Amino acid sequence: MKQFKTESKRILDLMINSIYTNKEIFLRELISNASDAIDKLKFISLTDNGVNIDFKIFIKANKTDRTLTIEDNGIGMDEATLEKNLGTIAESGTLAFKKENQGEENELIGQFGVGFYSAFMVADKIEVFSKAYGKEDAFKWESKGVEGYQISKTEKKDVGTKIVLWLKEDTEDYKYSDFLEQYKLSALIKQYSDYIRYPINMEMSRRRLIDGTEENPQYEESVSEETLNSMVPLWKKTKSEVTKESLNEFYKNEFHDYMDALKGIYAKIEGAVTYDTLLFFPSKAPIDYYSKDYKKGLKLYCNGVMIMEKCEELIPDYFGFVRGIVDSADLSLNISREILQQDRQVKAIANSIEKKISSELKKLMEEEREIYEKLFAEFGLSIKFGVYAGFGMNKDKLKDFLMFYSSRKEKLVTLKEYVEGMQEGQEEIYYACGENYQKIAKLPQIEKAKEKGYEILYFKDGVDEFVAKILIDYEGKKFKSVAESDFSLDTEEEKTQLDQKREEYKDMLSAIKEDLGDKVKEVRLTSNLKTYPVCLIASGDVSIEMEKVFASMPNADGRIKADKILEISATHSILKTLEEAYKSDRERLKKYSVVLYEQARILEGLAIENTEEFVNSLTDIIK
Ligand code: ADP
Repeated sequence: MKQFKTESKRILDLMINSIYTNKEIFLRELISNASDAIDKLKFISLTDNGVNIDFKIFIKANKTDRTLTIEDNGIGMDEATLEKNLGTIAESGTLAFKKENQGEENELIGQFGVGFYSAFMVADKIEVFSKAYGKEDAFKWESKGVEGYQISKTEKKDVGTKIVLWLKEDTEDYKYSDFLEQYKLSALIKQYSDYIRYPINMEMSRRRLIDGTEENPQYEESVSEETLNSMVPLWKKTKSEVTKESLNEFYKNEFHDYMDALKGIYAKIEGAVTYDTLLFFPSKAPIDYYSKDYKKGLKLYCNGVMIMEKCEELIPDYFGFVRGIVDSADLSLNISREILQQDRQVKAIANSIEKKISSELKKLMEEEREIYEKLFAEFGLSIKFGVYAGFGMNKDKLKDFLMFYSSRKEKLVTLKEYVEGMQEGQEEIYYACGENYQKIAKLPQIEKAKEKGYEILYFKDGVDEFVAKILIDYEGKKFKSVAESDFSLDTEEEKTQLDQKREEYKDMLSAIKEDLGDKVKEVRLTSNLKTYPVCLIASGDVSIEMEKVFASMPNADGRIKADKILEISATHSILKTLEEAYKSDRERLKKYSVVLYEQARILEGLAIENTEEFVNSLTDIIK
């Protein structure tokens, strides 16, 4: 007996003992696996005449044994694939488990998938008989759940997989034997698996009245194999037949998601290229979405034959979150990975898909803002990376999809909305960077800007400022950080006043600069502060926020640093204290300088540079 991997075991345990009410979905999962397996063999059959192309899925219920059998003549599994596929629970599932450990059990089960293992919700023993295409031997995998599984050699004539479920005993709460009733099975297949492109057959017994009286009718029982699904794939149906519900059912089934998609799109495109497509915006980013493990791509069909599980050439990276299928008759069937990239038709489809996605996103933004915001919360980062990637080559296509948090509206706004709401005379788009909205709101420079009624965009993602730099401007309005050295909200008169004050305190300011040495490029007075005494701003191309981003990168050597200016509030009473120290006690001024500098760092979210010096200076001042 082989053991399941530890984590798999825990998940399996949850699954078996789950209180998940929707147990019946196990059938659609097994049928969809069977259909995938047939897809794979069908593709091979294009080049191998020896393959039996009478593809079908067969369901059989046996009331005496309490078994339900799901059989397919797809690609099958050999010993190694049985081991690999059924011995461990999908990788993504394991990850989800670690992360959501505390969470709701049902949610968890949904997350890792409703896959093959969902059958353990209804069966206490499962047998899988399988013979792989191109292999001589057949194998049997069997398991009674958490204890483990066994794989042994078996006899099986045809290529394909037969799964036998030994149903659990009925309980007061659940009648597992319902899954042996033909009415129940046929209803489930209609409900969940109608669109499967291969016949799902079952032996159905029908009673026909042949004779007799009303009191004593005579029936004839006949048993015959019937196809229970309509076999028309959803994307081949007419628009009126494709409801929101059917799209969602398809999405969950096909892409193994337990949540509805935020949006499902159905389109038949005719023109330079002709294709049918179903596209979906998922409601949650997959756990690995922002890692290099994530594989984007759409399922590619040629005239109903699946030729590729994930065709990445069909969608750009920044829309990599979109799932879906494309079916086109314009493709050549024997298209391979290598020629795919150069294929003119594939390129044309990809272009058209990108346009479709863009127009749907725009529509969503305009008509269903709430849904768009949910989507942006999950995938906005992907769009931002898209703006930034390739030196901004796609920025014009993407800039209108961006949203940033607004200090005034206290919610996400688009750049267009920001520009429309600008104050009279305001020439630039103001932004402030920080780790999160709360921290940004408390930045020293924000107070004054807010007081003067300006709207500020809060940049909390590391990539945001890079995005602003690459965009340069929006509708001619340049981006301006409140932490930039020439940021000013002053009127001409106020500017003159500030200049006078800077002149007045000139010597003292250069003394402080001298004390701080290379730490800062300049020390000066500012009118941008309201209650805080100091702040730190950057004067060159590298902002303080960018310094943080660079420092957090792998292999960071800490060499890329912002040129910093220490700004002291021109209206704060601290100025007097500094002036006194400057005149009477230069040593004391030095301590003030250190403390103010380190304080300014803290306010910007930077670490203290020299803890010892800071603590000693502060202690000396207090004692
Ligand atoms: P998923 O379908 O999400 O990958 P499952 O646990 O349902 O996860 O299945 C795991 C794998 O086992 C599948 O990806 C497939 O490779 C294989 N498999 C399952 N059922 C069959 C089948 N009927 N025929 C061939 N392979 C199958």
